[in-house]
Amino acid sequence: MTAEDAGFDSLGLHPDLVSSLAGLGYEAPTPIQTAAIPQMISGRDLLCQAATGTGKTAAFALPIVSGIGEHRSGLPTALVLAPTRELCVQVAEAVHRYGRPFGVRTLPVYGGQPIGRQITALKRGVDIVVATPGRALDLLNRKSLKLNDVATVVLDEADEMLDMGFAEDIEEILSQAPADRQTVMFSATMPKRILRIAKHHLDDPLRIEIEREVPTGDAGPKIRQVAYVVARPYKAAALGRILDVETPAATLVFCRTRAEVDQLAETLNGRGYRAEALHGGMDQSMRDRVMGRLRSGGADLLVATDVAARGLDVDHLTHVVNFDVPAAPESYVHRIGRVGRGDRTGTAITIAEPRERRQLAAIERSTGGNIEIGTLPTSAQLRERRLELTRASLAVSCLDDDLERYRPLLEALTEDAGIEQVALAAIKTAHLATVGEQGEAEIPEAPEPRTARADKGRRSGWNKRDDETDRRRDKGGPGQSGKSRRGGPPAPGKKRIFINAGNDAGIRPADIVGAIANETGLPGSQIGPIDIRARHTTVDVPDTEAAAVIKALGRTRVKGQRVKARKDRDR
Ligand code: AMP
Repeated sequence: MTAEDAGFDSLGLHPDLVSSLAGLGYEAPTPIQTAAIPQMISGRDLLCQAATGTGKTAAFALPIVSGIGEHRSGLPTALVLAPTRELCVQVAEAVHRYGRPFGVRTLPVYGGQPIGRQITALKRGVDIVVATPGRALDLLNRKSLKLNDVATVVLDEADEMLDMGFAEDIEEILSQAPADRQTVMFSATMPKRILRIAKHHLDDPLRIEIEREVPTGDAGPKIRQVAYVVARPYKAAALGRILDVETPAATLVFCRTRAEVDQLAETLNGRGYRAEALHGGMDQSMRDRVMGRLRSGGADLLVATDVAARGLDVDHLTHVVNFDVPAAPESYVHRIGRVGRGDRTGTAITIAEPRERRQLAAIERSTGGNIEIGTLPTSAQLRERRLELTRASLAVSCLDDDLERYRPLLEALTEDAGIEQVALAAIKTAHLATVGEQGEAEIPEAPEPRTARADKGRRSGWNKRDDETDRRRDKGGPGQSGKSRRGGPPAPGKKRIFINAGNDAGIRPADIVGAIANETGLPGSQIGPIDIRARHTTVDVPDTEAAAVIKALGRTRVKGQRVKARKDRDR
């Protein structure tokens, strides 16, 4: 069966686009596509209830691409707003794929990525912008994003955007778009707030409702509960690895004590995550700011104690992590109840020490839930996942239209090496620069208790060994991340920077990462390791960025105070 027989050709799409769909393996339009595409082409406003997996992206992207004419002003003709950077990248990739036969220029823009690059790309000319609302508004205010030629605005996962607090930004963006534009809203749910926005900003919209085509099969619990059993010295490394593979969007990590919160936030920051420690003493506006960073993608994880996490507005979390097994089942239920709200699904991850298995079983019994015992991702899986991240990031770079300026380098390099070899070397460099190979050392598996003795509260031999490991660690045994932060020289290609404030001034890793990332746009993954001492801090940054980082730290405040930064004399 070809696309033509199956009905893609009857929807009014450009014939060249219809033929390219067969090449993508799309044989027939999905219900949302059949319903929405002709209406979008006719210019009608739409209010569509459709979840992920229904083919909704193509439902709005195909008619947009199909309608892009030969004459392009360089200003965007379509703006797609999406709640998260992940979705932005995913939608932009899809639009790029569909638009390839027409040479459509697509640009994903989202927070957490240097804005300068986005401004330059917009200047060069873009046909379709896929943006998170916050960043779109920022670019609008800077007059870099111009909506004069926008004929279609799509709000993708509108309910999610409202949950993330983007309502005002969306209103502002829509009010700046031309009044005669077409507006199309997609939402998995249709709460009143969505209908209110639709009433204000959509013109006599057609309502389309589509059930999820393929039932997910998990009609049962909306929260997937997984526990990983690991010996204590490896807990942080194990969590890092789990996060690397799960790549959660917004995560709250619970620790037992404040000291554990700081330690874990530091370890995760050293691993390239942007983790923020949340403290009980923070007032509401500080909490809101931290939550805002989590929403906008400026932070990946919040690490908190139960007390510190109280009262957080956390509706959009995708993952909750128990860095230990909570002592009481009620506490476990309360913690994991932070995900899976409304119609959303969520994941609760628990890191358990072997001796905590019993507690885990007790929680399972008393909550009637099912906690699956997970197997830690192997080094090979981690490597595979990281390669996939590099692939995705390179796929986005392939959308850049300023690649030509690197041609002289390509030509110089291919004088001595084949083009494939050059490409492989470039991929390797990109891979090492972004995700790297940290934490790929094996983590020993915690064996099942040999007998039921452990369940009866007696210690198995293995558990005893584990406790011994704990004691060793408490005396300064092997570091959690397996990466020595103290003493050693900076990694090749890195420079160590000395900052004249440390623990005594309340400096935490997140403050350093935040200050550098905000001022220079350097991604968190390239900042660190960070070593915070009583009265000074050192941080390693890429060689090429050291001067810019020193300058930036000189003009900003870290934790509300001015600091002095310089190249570390020892290094
Ligand atoms: P979405 O709901 O937009 O996240 O799309 C879900 C998946 O369905 C994506 O991987 C699309 O590439 C794929 N898809 C979309 N439309 C079709 C189609 N007509 N036939 C086959 N696959 C499709």
